[in-house]
Amino acid sequence: MITPAVRTRVANLDAAELPAYIHDLDGLRAHVATVRAALPARVELYYAAKANPAPKILAALAADVSGYEVSSGGELAHVLAHLPTVPIAFGGPGKTVDELIAALRAGVGRFHVESRHELHQLIALAARFRPERDVEVLLRVNLPLGPDVLHGAALTMGGDSGPFGMDPFEVESCLRLLTGPDAGRARLRGIHAHLASGLDADTQLAVAERVIGWTRDVAVRHRVALPEVNIGGGMAVDYADPAARFDWTRFGAGLGRLLADRPDLTVRIEPGRALTAYCGWYATEVLDLKHSHGSTFAVLRGGTHHLRTPAAKGHDQPCAIVPTTNPWPYPWPRPQIHDTEVTLTGQLCTPKDVFARRRPVSRLRVGDRVVFAMAGAYAWNISHHDFLMHPHPSFHYL
Ligand SMILES: *Cc1c(COP(=O)(O)O)cnc(C)c1O
Repeated sequence: MITPAVRTRVANLDAAELPAYIHDLDGLRAHVATVRAALPARVELYYAAKANPAPKILAALAADVSGYEVSSGGELAHVLAHLPTVPIAFGGPGKTVDELIAALRAGVGRFHVESRHELHQLIALAARFRPERDVEVLLRVNLPLGPDVLHGAALTMGGDSGPFGMDPFEVESCLRLLTGPDAGRARLRGIHAHLASGLDADTQLAVAERVIGWTRDVAVRHRVALPEVNIGGGMAVDYADPAARFDWTRFGAGLGRLLADRPDLTVRIEPGRALTAYCGWYATEVLDLKHSHGSTFAVLRGGTHHLRTPAAKGHDQPCAIVPTTNPWPYPWPRPQIHDTEVTLTGQLCTPKDVFARRRPVSRLRVGDRVVFAMAGAYAWNISHHDFLMHPHPSFHYL
């Protein structure tokens, strides 16, 4: 779970550098290359920047992704500032007029349209702010897929009522607008669907099959070409099993079968978590050990204001202990626990500040270092950094 290079770095960090985020860029590049190799050539791989937009992460992915999906004007400006020439798809609900104008001016090639109102706005703004070029549109659909299809999802953004995308009839009404006389420079390119996260390969394939099949039916019915289907991200990451990986080989082979009789079709995916979760670690140290009414707690430097993932998802963050060899500097005995279960918390004054509950340990001492794995996605960037005003962690890239 913790690679030798990360363990060495954690052991050698100066105490003043803790807590620390450590990112293994070589490991990330190797992982994404494996993902790319497992996918058919006609499947385009985009990275959903919101999972981890750190500039070095974005750059490390560049060799193996075809582009980046951004979901706000902030992400758009950020990605363009660091990678000015990469292809970008602009998605996400509630796009503002200013964001749409910025994206048009920046030359963004693809918009994932979330509503009829947004489509009207895009058409009007494109005529004014980028009249010289077509705007390619994917309409985001919320297909009513029940729990039988969205089996085991950790989060659902579709399949049922929600603020994301459009109901099928609304998509069809947008299709008529896009193929009619008032479409301006907006050009219909296809359908986008990001319905759930935490899906295994077979479930993702079942969803892809439904979305692709629905898209074909609609194209036939409306006599339009829909040459692209984007089936979103959401590939599962299992925090309870750090060695497990989404089965990209099975998924790629399945997509190959779905594409076999569809030479006209491009499929795009835009995962975030399953690409970057494994490349990040959050390292810190034990500040205190306490026994409280029959349970044992280790209070660690930092907390979920740096690594919100376990609090946000309600899981135990996988971790390893790196014992320190420094001599104990105080005249009283070093606090330690043996062969017991310990709940690992942070420094925040809230009972929600928990990294992992009742984790068995053979030995843990004040001053030992603890490294949390799978902290490369939805970790630092989703955390409420300034709650309680503790110092920010240091950042390291291997
Ligand atoms: C968040 C998001 C993704 C990425 O989801 P992961 O679960 O990180 O793979 C992809 N597409 C859209 C539209 C999203 O909102």
